[in-house]
Amino acid sequence: MSTVLPSPLAGQLNPVPRLLLGPGPGDMHPRVIAAMTTPLLGHLDPQFLLIMAETQEMLRAVFQTRNELTLPISATGSGGMEACLVNLIEPGERVVICTAGYFGDRMVEMARRCGAEVHVEQERWGQTFAADRIRQILQRTRPKLLGIVNAETSTGAWQDISELGPLCREFDTLLLVDCVTSLGCTPVNVDAWQIDAAFSCSQKGLSCPPGLAPMTVGPRAMEAIRRRKTPVRSWYLDLTALHSYWGAERVYHHTAPITMVYALREGLRLVLEEGLDARFARHQRNARALQAGLQALGLRTLADEHCQLPQLHAVVLPEGVNDVQGRKRLLEEFGIEVGGGLGEYKGRVWRIGLMGYNSRPSCVFQVLAALEKVLNDCGFKCSPGSGVAAAEAVYASS
Ligand SMILES: *Cc1c(COP(=O)(O)O)cnc(C)c1O
Repeated sequence: MSTVLPSPLAGQLNPVPRLLLGPGPGDMHPRVIAAMTTPLLGHLDPQFLLIMAETQEMLRAVFQTRNELTLPISATGSGGMEACLVNLIEPGERVVICTAGYFGDRMVEMARRCGAEVHVEQERWGQTFAADRIRQILQRTRPKLLGIVNAETSTGAWQDISELGPLCREFDTLLLVDCVTSLGCTPVNVDAWQIDAAFSCSQKGLSCPPGLAPMTVGPRAMEAIRRRKTPVRSWYLDLTALHSYWGAERVYHHTAPITMVYALREGLRLVLEEGLDARFARHQRNARALQAGLQALGLRTLADEHCQLPQLHAVVLPEGVNDVQGRKRLLEEFGIEVGGGLGEYKGRVWRIGLMGYNSRPSCVFQVLAALEKVLNDCGFKCSPGSGVAAAEAVYASS
């Protein structure tokens, strides 16, 4: 006789559909969903090896690099961050991390745990770092590595990376860039900008599920890895071993998440079919429409206008609007998920993401209409239809 316990059998999975307009995950592209129903192959099947090679080649095109070591880590974006740091830093080495938000802070914490001597360069949330300031920092500290976030998802601020590569080379410093929210939404020119290592994720600009962290490592960073005096502290994230699996040798390291690779392959196909420039222009256009709508509703965003990301908008909540209740209404009445604030902006901003597949007019109209209704009911009066009309005007004129 078996013991009598309440049955743990859960009901069939059947969640109410949502429109994911937060900081990620965004909705999967329908073609990604379809790709994920492809039957599994063995992870060393010649067909799968070809799929891996194709995925890497497309990833290089999307990162705009010829770096041989370009592959997706079996982890989310944070795993990509950790893989870069743990391979590039040895205990006791000096690094500089520039932070103006939650994800910069995460990089600081990870670098500390790698045993690095971390110099933190702090900027107000929503602000960015000028190249001149970075030059001074490098001159003063001469670090082995400089870490910085390209698209700070906690604030919606875009950090210009284009001049930092040559600067870092002058001081023999490696440049590590967090491209988690930028890849697939705004330009990431790894070779032209002389970025030494970059990482991203699958669930934001690439419209796949969370689970892979695409990354790329250039020759200078490879050399730093070769010259290590101590073994990489993480077995799972050891890039040299991962490279033997993803590279020509095909030495088993761990089982690649086959279905996730199918998804990423399709996500990358979608990016390249559309074309990088067309994709970036689409993100800009939908962002302009959203911003016009937000302004018409009387709302403003956290980041300065000149550095506002097109894919993530941190909307400052008006006085008297309750964060938790408001987002609950967006979710329950409109099926729309937006993100709450992080860190010092917890309870003070809503983060609206228009990433990859979700950067489209229907998402802009839906979120503006829903915001108007919810804010009005919370006592913040915005004139009826003004947000949607302002967005419409942007589309009509561009
Ligand atoms: C989302 C995000 C991360 C973390 O990625 P996960 O996939 O959640 O692990 C890191 N950096 C930035 C800028 C992000 O937006």
